[in-house]
Amino acid sequence: MRKHLLFLPVALFLIIFGVVTPAMADNTTPFFVVIDAGHGGKDPGYMPSSKKYNKEKEINLRISKKLGAYINENLPGVRVIYTRTSDKYLSLDERVAIANRNGRNGVFISVHCNGSPRRSSKGTETHIHSREFSSSVRLGTLVEEEFRTRAKRNSRGIKTKEDRNHNLQVLAETMMPGVLIETGFLSNPSEEKFLNSDHGQTLVASAIFRAFRSYYYGKVPPSARPSEPAQPAMATAKEKPATTTASTETKKYRVQVLATSEPVKLSDSRFKGVTVQEFQTQGTFKYKYVVGEASTPEEARKLAKQLKKKGFEGAFVVSL
Ligand SMILES: [Zn+2]
Repeated sequence: MRKHLLFLPVALFLIIFGVVTPAMADNTTPFFVVIDAGHGGKDPGYMPSSKKYNKEKEINLRISKKLGAYINENLPGVRVIYTRTSDKYLSLDERVAIANRNGRNGVFISVHCNGSPRRSSKGTETHIHSREFSSSVRLGTLVEEEFRTRAKRNSRGIKTKEDRNHNLQVLAETMMPGVLIETGFLSNPSEEKFLNSDHGQTLVASAIFRAFRSYYYGKVPPSARPSEPAQPAMATAKEKPATTTASTETKKYRVQVLATSEPVKLSDSRFKGVTVQEFQTQGTFKYKYVVGEASTPEEARKLAKQLKKKGFEGAFVVSL
């Protein structure tokens, strides 16, 4: 209570003296993502087919935590808010309240697994928010596109209010664009196995991360974002090296250590005295800084390992 009493005069002071206006506050607060791991505590969600597998609530939480970690590591301009980080019960109202107290400059992502009486049902679905319709459609489309192309899931596409079959109050009452992602069917034996594996959870979280990143880049211009570490393409279904948008005609394998929106001097201390080459590509982080030139991916992977030991934690193989 005392906190609120103190806060009010401070807020009034800031508004009166033009330091901040309520309208401005929404634009200047960092972009946020509310990650909502579905179910929890006394609400287990979909039950596993056998004791060796986890309940839906546990899988949702693992994927959510991976997703949050990827965003924290790679997108320093984004504030990650979880509705839960442990096996805790939260009502739908509480989830909505957590999301809404952060304003509108962000998105809401609810993570679930599906279930059906038919064991043959499989694939991913993304339900979209009906209020912030176009932004939600964009985010949902990006998620399903990533599932289909890079995570090699069977995408069933985005779903609107009309084809919802269960209560999606979290989407109806949150004030920001949002999606509820059904990451697969636990009632399908192969998807249950996949979603219980660390590999599967990583693939799903990586796909959602890439979709969110594309959405965020579309909303927040580079000038408004703090500098980001070189970003790997994250896990994809095929174990091929991450490719950039550069031409791959010459097919040389190199190790990327940094990508930026503005050019960086080759003598920059971030390169720790290592000889780097600059490549310009398409996209936001068009300046890529790479090390070495190998003719096989194996050779380049060895180099990436050495560079990681030197402190280039985000080093990864590219073909440029
Ligand atoms: Zn669920």
